[in-house]
Amino acid sequence: MCCSALEIVELKKPAGPLCVNGGAGGCRIYAERPGVCRDFECEWLTNRKLPPHLRPDRIGVLFMEDGDVDEYRAVCSPSRPHAWRQPAVFAHLVAVAKTGRVVVAKAGAQAWRVFASGESASTV
Ligand code: SF4
Repeated sequence: MCCSALEIVELKKPAGPLCVNGGAGGCRIYAERPGVCRDFECEWLTNRKLPPHLRPDRIGVLFMEDGDVDEYRAVCSPSRPHAWRQPAVFAHLVAVAKTGRVVVAKAGAQAWRVFASGESASTV
């Protein structure tokens, strides 16, 4: 999912389409994949507090930290651009926003800020 949902500047890959190196069997250049791919880990891999019902392949959303802008992001699968609006996902995003974090849901080039009040607003 991260090989399609995410923009990867180093590969000149926009958010949405599957990376040209990806296929049904996974990454075709796995042994030589770039450092950005080697280093990336979504929240599911790093945050043991995420409950099973928020597993990315089940909900169509991956959670990640964007350290460059200090944002907590929910990035939707290209095939499920509204997945961030699912009640369980949205409740998680509001809970994170209540901790003071900037929370952004993304689907391709579209983005929405999710607020601690339970409101959301398009940012583009
Ligand atoms: S190079 Fe491989 S691991 Fe990196 S985005 Fe493309 S398919 Fe995924």
